[in-house]
Amino acid sequence: MRAISATTKLVGLFGHPVGHSLSPAMHNAAFAALDLDCVYMAFDIRPGDIERAMSALPALGLLGVNVTIPYKEAVLPLLDTVTPEAAHSGAVNTIVVDDGRLVGYNTDGVGFIRSLAEEAGEDPAGKTVLLLGAGGACRAVAAALAFRGAARIIIANRDVARAVAVAGAVNQVQGGIAAAVPLTEEEVARAMREAQVVIQTTPVGMYPRVDEPPVVNPELLRPGQLVCDLIYNPRQTAFLAGASRRGCRTLSGLGMLLFQGVEAFGLWTHQDPPVDVMRRVLEEHLARRGRSFKQ
Ligand code: NAP
Repeated sequence: MRAISATTKLVGLFGHPVGHSLSPAMHNAAFAALDLDCVYMAFDIRPGDIERAMSALPALGLLGVNVTIPYKEAVLPLLDTVTPEAAHSGAVNTIVVDDGRLVGYNTDGVGFIRSLAEEAGEDPAGKTVLLLGAGGACRAVAAALAFRGAARIIIANRDVARAVAVAGAVNQVQGGIAAAVPLTEEEVARAMREAQVVIQTTPVGMYPRVDEPPVVNPELLRPGQLVCDLIYNPRQTAFLAGASRRGCRTLSGLGMLLFQGVEAFGLWTHQDPPVDVMRRVLEEHLARRGRSFKQ
């Protein structure tokens, strides 16, 4: 890795807390691999300080930042421009400082689409997709699916009002393609009959609560469906294990995590990101956290 000098450019992460983030390791390894004079730092921004932190970005000459919980929505009104995908996601996870202007992107959704294409060989265009959950990650993925031409998107959530809100945002991208249903066995079973792709977007099954029963019974899945879980720790959730036993293809959230970073790296540096290096760093760090990465 290059020594930090007077010409080093800074990229950061704004969140609270940030100590668990894998982004500094992933991006600093990528800068080193390309011998770029850049460094990535995590900033733990206290509640109430996000506006001051945002306004400092152009003054300090940062290339940009990632934004994580709890500021992904809060930064929207503080930006000069947002991409249509970020606007429909209602959240920004990447900011580029472009000639002093703050431009907001959502690379979570596009990261998921790239993972779908590159790791599962799946194109959502023309497909029916069932999303389980209706939180922030679901909203980003749903918007990206709509922009990529999904034919129908069904959102099943415990709190139906939240599913209705996500469906409304999707229908603004492609009129009438989204529907909201309650997360009941009957409604999910009905949606499963149509869906070619099923995406688990809730935190249920995430480390350390890995033994928690999945939000829907994997027995409802149909053999041959592509079943995705946005959780990346563990890589094989109880839901994905059940899907495998049902004869479904499976995709973990690690690819989404990787490709949201790959997309952000490209936006900041205008370089081809070293995808293999970034993937290796994520896998090594997650393995070190004691979770199994054998699919
Ligand atoms: P969030 O905004 O808090 O939303 C959580 C969603 O899960 C809500 O729809 C909630 O339903 C539902 N839920 C929570 N507990 C549930 C339960 N016991 N039974 C049924 N539904 C339940 O969270 P988020 O930011 O979207 O994150 C969700 C997951 O995605 C996390 O595991 C996160 O690590 C993962 N994620 C992965 C990536 C990646 O790069 N792979 C990126 C972002 C997020 P209600 O509305 O009914 O409460």
